[in-house]
Amino acid sequence: MGESFFGTTFDCTCGRTHRILPRRSFYCADAAGRLAEACAELTAGRRVILLMDARTRAAAGDDVAAAFADAGWTPLPVIVPDPARGKSPVCDDHTRQSLDSQLPPADLICPVGAGVINDLGKWAAADRGLPHVTFATAASMNGYTSANIAPTIGGIKRLLDGQAPQLVAASPAVLAAAPHELTASGLGDVLAKSVSSADWWANHLLFGEYYCPKSVGLIEEIEPLYLDRPEDLRDKKPEAFEALFSALLLTGVAMTMAETSFPSSGGEHLIGHALDMMSSADGVPHDLHGRQVGVGTILASELYRRVLAAESPILAEPAEGIDRAFWGPLADAVEAEYVQKVPRLREAREIFSSPRLRGDTGGWRRPDQEPRPDGA
Ligand SMILES: [Zn+2]
Ligand SMILES: [Zn+2]
Repeated sequence: MGESFFGTTFDCTCGRTHRILPRRSFYCADAAGRLAEACAELTAGRRVILLMDARTRAAAGDDVAAAFADAGWTPLPVIVPDPARGKSPVCDDHTRQSLDSQLPPADLICPVGAGVINDLGKWAAADRGLPHVTFATAASMNGYTSANIAPTIGGIKRLLDGQAPQLVAASPAVLAAAPHELTASGLGDVLAKSVSSADWWANHLLFGEYYCPKSVGLIEEIEPLYLDRPEDLRDKKPEAFEALFSALLLTGVAMTMAETSFPSSGGEHLIGHALDMMSSADGVPHDLHGRQVGVGTILASELYRRVLAAESPILAEPAEGIDRAFWGPLADAVEAEYVQKVPRLREAREIFSSPRLRGDTGGWRRPDQEPRPDGA
């Protein structure tokens, strides 16, 4: 799985030099043992924090702790408690603060879990300037290999800069035993690529933003392995699980190599994040990241269908503000984010209504389709 690609450094057609993290990934029955062995090269110390919750401890945490002990490490398991409200931990400023005092001094951090535990581990590693590796317990989202952390701070979904993990490991049996809604969530997160990469390309065409075709094309070959027969995931077929997990790792890597979340996260993720914030405003738990993103992908796809069907799209004047009644207690924070986006919306509207771009027929043309002034 991407073994020849992980850990490489290369000059890309996008003009940048990409250094690919993780250095290696392990996807095998003995993933915990191989991970623990490989960690020796990361640091001279031998104290490793294993961050987990009650469920991921049962799924893999105890085995990972034993593997690290066998490899000569001192495993320091830290169990993130379930919150009073809701059935599992969340990645937010409160959890970070309470974890801060619980984490012992260490040389390495290894979250053993899925989205929330992985992000909390990445966050703790960034706070302490420590290297981290990750042991995945579900094929549920593509954050394992990304450098971003996606916590909720003050009720608002944020994207913070962290580090990508040095190593990633997963056991096929553990992924297959994870609750099926977690696997569905992973599928939703990789489906997003179809529209998120289109959003990124549109940003490139309209505003001249940086774009890396290589990062967008990373999963082209493995996509058919789960997209052509998604029922193979339901039936827990090993090839489909391996393909989905590879796609999750590679779409995460795509964000790290492009140094932006654009390759794998566009408007569909904003819909997913809006659902998170609406749940937070209502004081109820939200659904899994990838399942919300999957819903966002359906909505974004329909939006693309309508835009592409329009002969001559005209963008509306952006609204001055947000619907404050709808956002209730989050209105100020949401409005602060929205006003930052208004100049871009205005610029897009100007570009779309520019006679130069609208061409003879009134249809919009891409800048690179414009006839050259010299007629060549
Ligand atoms: Zn590139
Ligand atoms: Zn995502």
